[in-house]
Amino acid sequence: MSAAALRAGAILTVDLDAVVANWRLLSKLAEGAECAAVVKADAYGLGAGRVGVALQAAGCRTFFVAHLEEGLELRKAIGFSSRVFVLNGTPAGTESEFLNSVLIPVVNTAGELAAWRDHAREKGRSMPVALQLDTGMSRLGLSHGDVAELAGEPMGLSGLSVELVMSHLACADAPAHPANGRQRRAFAKLRTVLPRRAASSLANSAGILLGPEFRFDLVRPGAALYGINPVPDGSNPFRQAVTLSTRVIQIREVPAGTSVGYGHARTVERQSRLATLSLGYADGWPRAANMSAFYKGQALLFAGRVSMDSIVVDATDCAKAPREGEFVSLMCREQTVDDVARAAGTIGYEILTRLGRRFARDYGRHAALAA
Ligand SMILES: *Cc1c(COP(=O)(O)O)cnc(C)c1O
Repeated sequence: MSAAALRAGAILTVDLDAVVANWRLLSKLAEGAECAAVVKADAYGLGAGRVGVALQAAGCRTFFVAHLEEGLELRKAIGFSSRVFVLNGTPAGTESEFLNSVLIPVVNTAGELAAWRDHAREKGRSMPVALQLDTGMSRLGLSHGDVAELAGEPMGLSGLSVELVMSHLACADAPAHPANGRQRRAFAKLRTVLPRRAASSLANSAGILLGPEFRFDLVRPGAALYGINPVPDGSNPFRQAVTLSTRVIQIREVPAGTSVGYGHARTVERQSRLATLSLGYADGWPRAANMSAFYKGQALLFAGRVSMDSIVVDATDCAKAPREGEFVSLMCREQTVDDVARAAGTIGYEILTRLGRRFARDYGRHAALAA
């Protein structure tokens, strides 16, 4: 364990081997297509640099981030041997930064496309871009009208080297949803009027599981890499990649009738042993997720409300109770990211990306801290 981890109130242990194993499984499931990795939002909170280096070593050659800054950070970690696409476009004036760091913009609007064409003309060189098409999500990308206009305009892409044509599925996590087939057909059709040389990409994690016709040339998984189940109603073929452990900072014995925490939301009915944990909603644990902590396979139910910096759990029935200074787990085999999301009325993506900045992140295989 690192020095920071030894002092921290909580530790997020990231199992990079699990992330790599998930990427390999996705590559296999998407056989015939290149498997990229989406590492936006600091690799969904796990650490884009560490994840990027591990996946690149495993053979991943294409990465996606959302912002220019994320691309610049990723370049520092992984160097220049892989492609990096930036999904959220190019604020005006950032073109040279994209070029200098070999970041490829995903062009979403006709205005952006024109700006890149002008820039290419000015520099007298060819500029690599990806084109995003809106095939029915109504969020980002060129419309049918934009694409038709582009197809009818011989100089519409002059100076631009289109590396990728992509679109994004709105309902891939619901395999039976008719929007999936509609988007796939719309994409295939729009694709025919754009440069054939460019690779095509439609599928995110859940899209990969929809079937071979959704895979095209390149797939873009994010969630599944990090152990989130892309299809929440099914069983999860992907490995958990994070363990969240927190320190027990006080143990107390209280008599029956004692009330606990804010609002005295809970009153114990018997003499109880309570343990206070050094993690709260300020660390990204949702206040609504009233769950359990785990210690040596035993579940310790939360007693009372989640506070900003702490949570009290009931250790009365533990055959082997934790001692002050020991760690218990809040996300682990017994209680997955998706379980926490369900308890909080949200999705695993939000749980991971909101995890706090003030606890330590530890990389490697010592995920069994509290086990
Ligand atoms: C975030 C994102 C992905 C990854 O989606 P997951 O559901 O996490 O696999 C893929 N493509 C685009 C355009 C995205 O914004």
